[in-house]
Amino acid sequence: METILADDTSSPVIVWFRRDLRLADNAALSAAVETGRPVIALFIREAAGASSMPLGAAQAWWLHHSLLALKASLQQAGGDLLLLSGPAEDVLAHVAAEAGVETVYFNRCYERDERDRGIARALKQAGVAVQAFHGQLLSEPSAVRTGAGKPFRVFTPFWKALQALGEPREPMAAPKAIAGHSLSAASENLDDWNLLPVRPNWAAPFVDVWTPGEAGARERLETFIEEGLGNYKAGRDIPALEVTSRLSPHLAHGEISPAQAWHAATGVPDVDPAQVTHFRRELAWRDFSYTLLVEFPELATRNWNPSFDDFQWTFDERQFRAWTKGQTGYPIVDAGMRQLWQEGYMHNRVRMITASFLIKDLMIDWRKGEEWFSDTLVDADPANNAASWQWVAGSGADASPFFRIFNPLLQGEKFDPGGEYVRRYLPELDKLDDKYIHRPFAAPEDVLQKAGVVLGETYPRPLVDHFEARDRALAAYKNVG
Ligand code: FAD
Repeated sequence: METILADDTSSPVIVWFRRDLRLADNAALSAAVETGRPVIALFIREAAGASSMPLGAAQAWWLHHSLLALKASLQQAGGDLLLLSGPAEDVLAHVAAEAGVETVYFNRCYERDERDRGIARALKQAGVAVQAFHGQLLSEPSAVRTGAGKPFRVFTPFWKALQALGEPREPMAAPKAIAGHSLSAASENLDDWNLLPVRPNWAAPFVDVWTPGEAGARERLETFIEEGLGNYKAGRDIPALEVTSRLSPHLAHGEISPAQAWHAATGVPDVDPAQVTHFRRELAWRDFSYTLLVEFPELATRNWNPSFDDFQWTFDERQFRAWTKGQTGYPIVDAGMRQLWQEGYMHNRVRMITASFLIKDLMIDWRKGEEWFSDTLVDADPANNAASWQWVAGSGADASPFFRIFNPLLQGEKFDPGGEYVRRYLPELDKLDDKYIHRPFAAPEDVLQKAGVVLGETYPRPLVDHFEARDRALAAYKNVG
């Protein structure tokens, strides 16, 4: 790291940005600005392994654009963004020493509490104070406890306890003016971080779907409140509808706080309170996932329920590849996997179906799916992704039992009856009758011909027979525990 010299007279403070790439409702930033001192807004790029989840390729694309947006907002307010690479403890200590910083401010992000505590201890030993704030979740994991003072492992009582704490705090406004610091001139160049894909630029279609950054998050929230919230409860299960908020990548990068999303749903004219409660309940699932991650930091790599350690997974590379590419022969699964590839996102219902298919129909270890989603989702989140995969596998806390095996045919017919979602992502099936849209392999030859579908050529035959696969999975499950 090159030496950087400060020339400001009053000693600055550091705000260490991580999964909180926003100005509004950012407790650490607001507190730092209130000191009246110059603010060094710092983002550190650490090597893989420093976080509980490696930075996936789709997230790297998002991060690039989100950092650009954050830098622009900070500059507009009078500040700037300093980008540096290296182990966080070293970078923080170095910048603090160079600039004569007395206090580092950051928001807790829970995915690596133990490490944060170590960093705080090391800084304190070097004479630098640390102030940590809350804001990434609706409530701090340590605040939501059972009567016995233990973390919850079941969602429904967790949700009740969370509600009993009252509403999350009112969101804070973005600081109007931020005093910058000359040190920002020593920033590394974002382009040199090579976060964007080049050859091929597979993220090109993402720009039509997403606007990373705080302004994009705010816009997404406003659209959802106006157009989605009123039909959230029933509509959220229909993948063809744009009813859910699609806030997940913005929340994962902290471009919006869950408290902002919670409060935006208050008092919306003509919206039934039951819709609002349902939306807030989903936000609470995110808090619940973090509670699990804090209790069990290896959530992404180890079965929560150790009986699953004995499960006999199989791994067929060809089948796994077919799943990742959306070529399983089950349209609802393939449409989901292709949505993931095209948008870096997948509808929640279809995430459950595709995950169940990988784990139970193909009997591939849930960790392989977790890794693939981590790499390809723009909303990849260390707690939500791991907790959700373990939920589908049946190995998690409060999980769906293993023997609940999603039938991809019935799921498609129930939640995408006219095949609108399937047709959107599988154009090769566009002309197929509704009756066969979720089971092309069962269509008579003349129906296929009329729709221009040649099984095994334009669209694959099923990789496995779902009913045989189901029996195989249930037989393997008998040996668990
Ligand atoms: P909305 O329905 O609008 O919900 C609002 C917010 O609540 C979401 O943005 C999210 O932060 C939270 N939320 C909603 N549903 C859930 C849930 N089931 N569990 C936890 N939080 C929830 N979500 C992620 O944010 N990151 C992931 O990496 C992730 N991986 C998943 C993997 C699998 C296998 C499954 C089944 C689910 C996963 N989810 C993940 C949960 C869920 O699918 C997404 O949060 C949701 O689809 C995001 O869309 P939305 O913002 O429109 O959600």
